[in-house]
Amino acid sequence: MDAHIRAHVDALPNLPPIADPAKLRTALESLPTSLPEHGWGDSRTLEYLTGSIAGGLAQGQAGPRYWGFVTGGVLPIAQAADNLVTLYDQNVQVHLPSQSISTVIESRTLELLLSLLSLNPTNFPGRTFTTGATASNILGLACGRQWAIAKAHPGYDVAEDGFGGFGCKVLVAKTHASLIKAASLVGIGRKNVIECGVKVDQDGGLPFDLQKMELLMQECKQRGDGIIVSPGFGEVNTGGFTPEIPKIRALCDKYGAWMHIDGAFGAFAKLVPDLQSYVEHLDLADSITVDAHKWLNVPYDSAAFFTRHVNVLPSVFGPSPSTGGPAYLAAGSAGATYPALDAVLSIPSPLNVNIENSRRFRALPVFAALLSLGREGYAELIQRNVGFARVLGKYISTHGSYELLNPGNQVALNIVLFRAKNLDSGELLRRINASGKIYASPTSWAGQGAVRIAVSNWMTKMEAIGDGKSDLDTAIEVLDAAVKDV
Ligand SMILES: *Cc1c(COP(=O)(O)O)cnc(C)c1O
Repeated sequence: MDAHIRAHVDALPNLPPIADPAKLRTALESLPTSLPEHGWGDSRTLEYLTGSIAGGLAQGQAGPRYWGFVTGGVLPIAQAADNLVTLYDQNVQVHLPSQSISTVIESRTLELLLSLLSLNPTNFPGRTFTTGATASNILGLACGRQWAIAKAHPGYDVAEDGFGGFGCKVLVAKTHASLIKAASLVGIGRKNVIECGVKVDQDGGLPFDLQKMELLMQECKQRGDGIIVSPGFGEVNTGGFTPEIPKIRALCDKYGAWMHIDGAFGAFAKLVPDLQSYVEHLDLADSITVDAHKWLNVPYDSAAFFTRHVNVLPSVFGPSPSTGGPAYLAAGSAGATYPALDAVLSIPSPLNVNIENSRRFRALPVFAALLSLGREGYAELIQRNVGFARVLGKYISTHGSYELLNPGNQVALNIVLFRAKNLDSGELLRRINASGKIYASPTSWAGQGAVRIAVSNWMTKMEAIGDGKSDLDTAIEVLDAAVKDV
């Protein structure tokens, strides 16, 4: 097993992003169709996993040229920490600081992450690790629903009593699909997520039509609906941001609305000097989503959620105030007392501020990576990825056979959106991915097919290492070849 891990890590920079079709087929055909009556035993099973199943996996998904979705890799230190997570198998749900430091590390890691994003931890006392930006968006809408309906109907408690006939609207501008899923899940309803965006502006932003938004807010107020507004920091096709956050904040204050910013990867623009004007008002949000398994380059699955309203999380995710929680889940230090322990007693049990009860110690890889890289290391990683995407965008925008689709004809963050002038985007994508050298994903833009490349892996480099090709050279070679006959 150790040899398999070492070989994979060494080969990763040069592995094809996805599975070899023949190996994938062999793996598919080898799948057992029934539970073995007599177990295979560990050594045969392990041989099967490394020999057949591993060949069916996307070989280079954690590697430097897997540019589909928004995909991070795994920093070596994060991988090492993740191994410790499995080895020690802590259940991070009840705060028992005299038994395990795990809940304290989780809490401290969330503070460090806020610091990385230049957010003041005292402004965001409600915080937790989640399984992904989707789960963080679920928390955002669950908290927003709880708070905003109580704002419209003082004393009303949705978590305790259900919706009671009260509605809730979520006003968005080209939001991520996971927010619509979250609206379905928390009982708001997908149809109550209302598009308020105007056409994407030349800056690549995701502006709200503020007049339309205010009219909708007035209607909500008259009906007694709760209101949530969700600007986006980092749109998945362009990396665009919602501008005018202070104006949106002022409208939220006027109409009692909760502002949830989905900054899954875009929040990390905080580390890119020339993007400060887009993200400087992140701290005006009531709640924030950030992904860790994307740009922090820790293993799946890992993300965080922050809110300024420390009491809202436990009012939704904690026990009922009328019955209290079960005694066996009580937090405490079992009477032990010393200054370092006493200082951490007030950390809430994660189970009371989160969806899950039993939870993985997913904070540890983030903790390790933040310590290992520090602010400078992460700034270098993120700026390098952004620089790479911008250079690739420039190449595409000046190529006779391609059209760059990022607004303003330039890449701001880490996503390059493009199509070929004389080739269907489906066929273009097929050619790009069939190269086995880089991997991109399909999308649609302005009603037509398009291709997107999102760069968020720590290994991706503009310069060649040794006498090999650089990742940029490889991308250019593949993109040139894909359109050479059209
Ligand atoms: C990736 C992404 C999500 C969903 O995140 P998961 O980590 O896949 O759950 C939500 N919002 C935005 C803006 C994203 O980029």
